[in-house]
Amino acid sequence: MFEVDMEGVPQRASTGSLPGRGRVAELLREAHARYAPLRDGVVADYIPVLERADPDRFGLSLIGVDGAAEEVGDAADAFTIQSISKAFVFALVCEEIGHHAVHERVGVNNTGLPFNSVMALELNLGSPMNPMVNAGAIATTAMMPAPSHSARWDAILHGLSRFAGRELAVDTEVYESEMRTNTRNRAIARLLEGYGRLDEDPGTIVEMYTRQCALLVTAHDLAVMGATLADGGVNPVTGERVVAEEVARDTLTVLASCGMYERSGEWLFEIGLPAKSGVSGGIVAISPGKGALGAFSPPLDPAGNSVRGQRACAFLSRALGLNLFASGVTSRESTA
Ligand code: GLU
Repeated sequence: MFEVDMEGVPQRASTGSLPGRGRVAELLREAHARYAPLRDGVVADYIPVLERADPDRFGLSLIGVDGAAEEVGDAADAFTIQSISKAFVFALVCEEIGHHAVHERVGVNNTGLPFNSVMALELNLGSPMNPMVNAGAIATTAMMPAPSHSARWDAILHGLSRFAGRELAVDTEVYESEMRTNTRNRAIARLLEGYGRLDEDPGTIVEMYTRQCALLVTAHDLAVMGATLADGGVNPVTGERVVAEEVARDTLTVLASCGMYERSGEWLFEIGLPAKSGVSGGIVAISPGKGALGAFSPPLDPAGNSVRGQRACAFLSRALGLNLFASGVTSRESTA
């Protein structure tokens, strides 16, 4: 995948709490300075409007479970949430109908195939396998219980806004651009219907899924949304409980195995955190009980993960002691 040069940066164990705010701010600035010059990756263009994104944009935000924020760079720049919405809609649907129902219909195993794979559905006899690929996300959106489609959309919009702690809005231009080109997602929804995994009208659900993906957020918003999961379902900025503790736990579990597309295993190996990325260049990485990182930088690797965002998360996971699997600083690493 990639090496993270930790020369001169002490690595922390994952137990306990975040370092002091001053140290967090210093390490965020260091991560930004290290990776801002990177020129790898390509801005997504399969949704035509996205190709206009400025490849130099790079913002990082970290919000602790105490609600305190540290930010650097373009952390207030707005971009569309895209696939990251899948994590939070999954949480909202589990909150409403319980995780067993979602598990049964959608699954929780990685497909090992790209996020928009039709073959993955066929190979698995119509099971989307998990809620973080398009098939699973479309099926999950359709499972949000509501008396009408407009009530379903209101529940999704209101729920995602409670995660963010502010009223989110749709980028109409991105939404319309994707609606003109999302033939593949329409095909996936039809196929799900054919396999009996979609009870709602496929066209209406794809439209709603596309709208949820076009909600505008910032790296700061992603960090607040992630910190809500880190805080057992309570938004640490507004103090509002958005989902139950078990739902926050279940969502993080699915993110650990499926959040970073077909690179989820490598991501967990390098970074050790549940996370979700989206094709606009956003990443949210969550450290349960501590807080969450929101990152934004448009150039992507071939799997669709932000190049600078991944590097920054890898660096900060080590330097801040966020990796779930690191119970101590190894002597080899600490002297490297
Ligand atoms: N709206 C995008 C799609 O369905 C989201 C993909 C992503 O961010 O991975 O293709």
